[in-house]
Amino acid sequence: MRQHVTDPESCIQCSACEMACRQAAIQAYAGRFCIDASLCNECGKCIEECPTGAAACYIETETPFTQQEQALWQAIPREKESDSISGLFPDSNA
Ligand code: SF4
Ligand code: SF4
Repeated sequence: MRQHVTDPESCIQCSACEMACRQAAIQAYAGRFCIDASLCNECGKCIEECPTGAAACYIETETPFTQQEQALWQAIPREKESDSISGLFPDSNA
């Protein structure tokens, strides 16, 4: 599945995405603003409000990462770091 995530390397923790999300899909965990895949409806509001582009990230994964798991990321995990990641597609699901 394609999972919408935030990029810890470009996030400045401004909380604009959390405020923009009408699904309450974004919460801060340990200072990281993470998206609940079960609530996100891909409306794109968080991406529109994010000043750095950090909210415009997607990964391909067999099982969605929980917000608690995402909060531990220093960077978006890549294929070599996790068997569950099949690829990183920032802009499309191609
Ligand atoms: S795309 Fe929409 S529903 Fe999903 S996290 Fe962003 S604002 Fe919330
Ligand atoms: S709006 Fe962007 S920079 Fe601000 S907390 Fe959300 S992901 Fe991070």
